[in-house]
Amino acid sequence: MNRAALHKITYGLYIITAGQNGKFSGQIANSLFQVTSNPATIAVSINKENYTHELITAGRKFAVSVLSQEAPMIFIGLFGFKSGRNVDKLKEVETKTGVTGVPIVLDHSLSFIEAEVQGELNCGTHTIFFGKIVEADIISEGEPLTYAYYQSVKGGKSSKNAPTYIQEETKAKAAPKASTRYVCSVCGYVYDPEKGDPDGGITPGTAFEDIPDSWTCPICGAQKDNFEKE
Ligand code: FE
Repeated sequence: MNRAALHKITYGLYIITAGQNGKFSGQIANSLFQVTSNPATIAVSINKENYTHELITAGRKFAVSVLSQEAPMIFIGLFGFKSGRNVDKLKEVETKTGVTGVPIVLDHSLSFIEAEVQGELNCGTHTIFFGKIVEADIISEGEPLTYAYYQSVKGGKSSKNAPTYIQEETKAKAAPKASTRYVCSVCGYVYDPEKGDPDGGITPGTAFEDIPDSWTCPICGAQKDNFEKE
């Protein structure tokens, strides 16, 4: 199978929010589409490990914010690379409560859609939730952010929990020097081996390759595989 063929599929980038009883959170999703027109129904694929999956399963409703091309990487990083189990993401952004009671993210969003879950399909690592649209409106004018734009223009990476995530081929060319600096593709933080990351438990002089995989970007929390050679 040539997985490059799958890279020709086009996607957008959305924030999905969900929850109930004062417990709300949200995440980035790219696998979202309209299924039917009448009744208007959308479907979204969510990783079972994600907090949002837990919240949609419990609350049976979700909201979608369609992101603008102008959305900054740090904002995308907050919703795409951090877990709502550890961070109150919605505290950091402007929201409004929708008719379903779920907060809708307004920042960097062009429109919103609210849906009540009508059914779901178990897809192994992910669940596809089908939602009947109960409300939708425009938030601002602009160009919607596509996944291609996010990756090619913004230099964004796929979260490991994205349905479209593909393990990067081992880029083992020449072994990088121990002094090679690495840049976080989400927030731009530069890891300098000379300095290490003492707050993150990485002593000065540690080559990037020798950092444990559990280490995350001290600025945005992105995982190690989001770093690239400077
Ligand atoms: Fe970062």
